[in-house]
Amino acid sequence: MPSVTFTPIGIIHSCFRQKFGIPRQPGLVRAARGELELLPPYNRREALAGLEGFSHLWIHFIFHRTMAEGWRPTIRPPRLGGKKRVGVFATRSTHRPNPLGMSVVRLESIVEREGKLLLELSGIDLLDQTPVVDIKPYLPYADIIDDASGGFAPEPDGGAAVRFTVEVEQFCDHYQRQTRRDLRSLVEQILAQDPRPAYLHQSSERSYGMHLWELNVRWRIEDGGFLVYLIEPGEP
Ligand code: SAM
Repeated sequence: MPSVTFTPIGIIHSCFRQKFGIPRQPGLVRAARGELELLPPYNRREALAGLEGFSHLWIHFIFHRTMAEGWRPTIRPPRLGGKKRVGVFATRSTHRPNPLGMSVVRLESIVEREGKLLLELSGIDLLDQTPVVDIKPYLPYADIIDDASGGFAPEPDGGAAVRFTVEVEQFCDHYQRQTRRDLRSLVEQILAQDPRPAYLHQSSERSYGMHLWELNVRWRIEDGGFLVYLIEPGEP
């Protein structure tokens, strides 16, 4: 078979500036927001005509951050505690023969700003600067499958307890007034999913940091839940 070359049609601007903290699938963190900027020659309003009537989109993208690491025939998915191996095609792993990802995300709006054509998205699981190769509307009549079974990956719990110090609450309020970004909900929803790798789930000692936008969010285990104790400027 001949090989095929794809040209990115757009690029993602995301709250996620590093891999740690990104939800494992879209829709798990509703407050995770980003923009898909269409790139020339695809940044034409007519190419989006009719799309605004759809609440959700399929985004097809390149796992650009991990593609240099190549693929593996078997994977230890986090949903199996990182211990048991399954075939790569039974997973949504980033380490695939062709590093293609696909995510259903909510389309919040389509805007033009500073000469750029942007799709405002939420519920994303995409790293900042992710190249996008296609956009398709999500079709409920075809894409919702009532009797689908989830194999070894049933619906995640997402119920970890999350608390904030008073100082962090104040920082979030101030940040939201300045930027209109709902940082508090974003952090709360990410931590509720417990973003730690499986091998650290038993650890109660460590504190953790994750980068969201231009911020370093620090949290630790306390009283069986997560306590967010500091948010400060910091790039990955
Ligand atoms: N929903 C997509 C899918 O099913 O193809 C992605 C699933 S994959 C398990 C989700 C993880 O991909 C995220 O937690 C993040 O760590 C990683 N990721 C997101 N964007 C990436 C990128 N551009 N390059 C490499 N890894 C990325």
